[in-house]
Amino acid sequence: MSEAIKTDVLIIGAGPCGLFAVFELGLLDIRAHLVDILDKPGGQCAELYPEKPIYDIPGVPMVTGHGLTEALMEQIKPFNPSFHFGEMVNTLEKIGDPGFRVTTDAGKVFECKVVVIAAGGGSFQPKRPPVPGIEAYEGTSVFYAVRQMDRFRDKNIVIVGGGDSALDWTLNLHPLAKRVTLVHRRDDFRAAPHSVEQMRALVASGKMDLRIGQVTGLEGAGGVLSAATFKGNDNAVSTIPCEMMLPFFGLTMKLGPVADWGIALEHNLIPVETSGFETSMPGIFAIGDINTYPGKIKLILCGFHEGALMAQKAHRYVYPEKRLVFQYTTSSSSLQKKLGVN
Ligand SMILES: Cc1cc2nc3c(=O)[nH]c(=O)nc-3n(C[C@H](O)[C@H](O)[C@H](O)COP(=O)(O)OP(=O)(O)OC[C@H]3O[C@@H](n4cnc5c(N)ncnc54)[C@H](O)[C@@H]3O)c2cc1C
Repeated sequence: MSEAIKTDVLIIGAGPCGLFAVFELGLLDIRAHLVDILDKPGGQCAELYPEKPIYDIPGVPMVTGHGLTEALMEQIKPFNPSFHFGEMVNTLEKIGDPGFRVTTDAGKVFECKVVVIAAGGGSFQPKRPPVPGIEAYEGTSVFYAVRQMDRFRDKNIVIVGGGDSALDWTLNLHPLAKRVTLVHRRDDFRAAPHSVEQMRALVASGKMDLRIGQVTGLEGAGGVLSAATFKGNDNAVSTIPCEMMLPFFGLTMKLGPVADWGIALEHNLIPVETSGFETSMPGIFAIGDINTYPGKIKLILCGFHEGALMAQKAHRYVYPEKRLVFQYTTSSSSLQKKLGVN
């Protein structure tokens, strides 16, 4: 385990609510680190609907999931938050009053005064395709996300799926792979039309393969893949030699380790009081889709409101000796200074 990273607040989840919480905390001089399982910020907006328009962000008539994430990242820049992507928060332990020690699955340790759980519907977990024995190859030859492209260099790769992830990684990995074979159950793709066009052009010029059908089995030994069994829609069975397979069958959301921290839960959600969105454990707050209270609506704007009130209450734990004076960004020169606009 590494040396503990000390911070005022640890935010679990870099979805829209976790990101906006950085802003509200930052205005009160509260520093934050954020951990997210995904390899990028934005939570559901970035992972589930980056291109879809959102019409109910106050004052913003239309913005895509990706656009909102970009705008939030720009808005929190003055507070220079530290991000830890590709890591899942695993354990949480009380070490003081207030004080918590939190660890991630990558062995990182944080010590903080306040924890903000902004974990949405929980952790996104990839759907496993129904291929017998696939578990034996996971993490060695079968991957559900690409963390390091170099791992796929000079390899024969089978990519399975017909959505944006499958097409994006087909296009990104094809220049460095030995050969990419895209397998999809029908010759019709849900991905962005431009990506589909690019993929078809590569197939037409003989630079990659497209097979319509399903992967029904895997061959290999000791977790190292040597081939995938392929069954075409005409029921003909063949093998595709490959050392790597990337199935992209979508994501499900599971509450994950949050459920083991001793915080009261209600139907897999975290009940909070509504003056500061604190959980049953003092010093631990829950904002956004993960919390529940009478009248709760799972809307981004509600999570933003919760972040603002959470920050006011978190201030008492971080600066117990300081009185908090409420200020507007329009008229407070000290807030404007923090934002770098004055
Ligand atoms: C298709 C679709 C369309 C939508 N349209 C709208 C709309 O028009 N307007 C609107 O207001 N809302 C909309 N929503 C809902 C909106 O996206 C959610 O309300 C919002 O994303 C909740 O934000 P959040 O920050 O609470 O959680 P999320 O966006 O779910 O982010 C939570 C983050 O926490 C991370 N995480 C979870 N557990 C851990 C852990 N243990 N360790 C580390 N990281 C963890 C996850 O990886 C994730 O990135 C839509 C949702 C969907 C699916």
